[in-house]
Amino acid sequence: MKGRVFNFAAGPSMLADEVLDELYEEFYNYQNTGMAVMEMSHRGKDYLKIFEEAKQRLYRVMEIPQEYEVFFMHGGATGQFAAVALNLLKGDKADYILTGNFSKKAAMEAMKYGQVHIAYDGKDNGYRHIPKQEELSFDEDSKYVHLCSNNTIFGTQWKTYPDVKGKILVGDLSSDILSRKIDVSRFGLIYAGAQKNIGIAGISVVIIRKDLIETPMAITPDILSYELMAKHDSMLNTPPTYPIYVLGKVLKWIEESGGLEAIESRNREKAKILYDYLDTQSFYKPHAEKDSRSLMNVTFTTPNEDLDKKFVSEAAERGLVSLKGHRLVGGLRASIYNAMPKEAVKKLVEFMDGFAKENAL
Ligand code: PMP
Repeated sequence: MKGRVFNFAAGPSMLADEVLDELYEEFYNYQNTGMAVMEMSHRGKDYLKIFEEAKQRLYRVMEIPQEYEVFFMHGGATGQFAAVALNLLKGDKADYILTGNFSKKAAMEAMKYGQVHIAYDGKDNGYRHIPKQEELSFDEDSKYVHLCSNNTIFGTQWKTYPDVKGKILVGDLSSDILSRKIDVSRFGLIYAGAQKNIGIAGISVVIIRKDLIETPMAITPDILSYELMAKHDSMLNTPPTYPIYVLGKVLKWIEESGGLEAIESRNREKAKILYDYLDTQSFYKPHAEKDSRSLMNVTFTTPNEDLDKKFVSEAAERGLVSLKGHRLVGGLRASIYNAMPKEAVKKLVEFMDGFAKENAL
């Protein structure tokens, strides 16, 4: 489509052209129903079909075992920071692994509803590092271990998940869900905001082992209760109808692109192009340690802040937008989620190389 740019934003971020095309085609009159999806009753048969299809596609694409329930909830991933603690922690103790800003926020939220034991904190190394098994110390009495799979701001990612010694593993997969094949059965609970790899803002996905769904703390708002979500199949109230529909479209696109294996190998290729370049030059400094690098968010800096700013604006002139790093790290960040095409990553590297030569100090 004319005038579209390559959007390297960390989220909300790009959707695949194929997804946007279908949304556009069905916008005014969804499959001859005479209405747009966002005008439909969430209890009507046309919408219920959209809802059920989206849910079933998620089970298929992620190979979610039948012992797991899927919820579509409001409140983003931040809502889940509280929901996890209200439903699972309930005044007891849990381990939190701090590998960045969002895992810290999740821990701070949990502290309102129980005790938090910090199993690892990467603050002192600037959150460049994903801990090895021997760096983690779990509390004997903790009920679950919480981790953030991909650290959107710092650009680090767990390559394999740690052994949590029989405890329940809870994962925030907001910025890498559907980017690679994972074994869902390693987790008791997975949650993710949709606006990076599964769709658009306004919805979070929760995948929970059914035996963990129990009565939450008495103070829990109904809207955050997993028990009520299960009882009402995510329709305790009006769900985020359009984001659920978009989620279904994104999953359809993933299936048509060859499923998660194909998506993962494409993501690896894209990240390799960027990291290989970063490793062969000295102008840019990558933020993350090599073996902790994210396939989704590539973080780096130029020699100084003025050059960072110049980089962002000159890249934008070439249709490569939203490359500014998060304010906590500064510098630059290229988010290369599923929908980012390989040609865009190559274009970015070409630009980076030219910029480095022109601005070498
Ligand atoms: N966790 C991670 C890993 C994130 O990247 C984000 C948002 N960027 C959040 C949690 C918070 O998500 P939300 O804005 O949907 O509440």
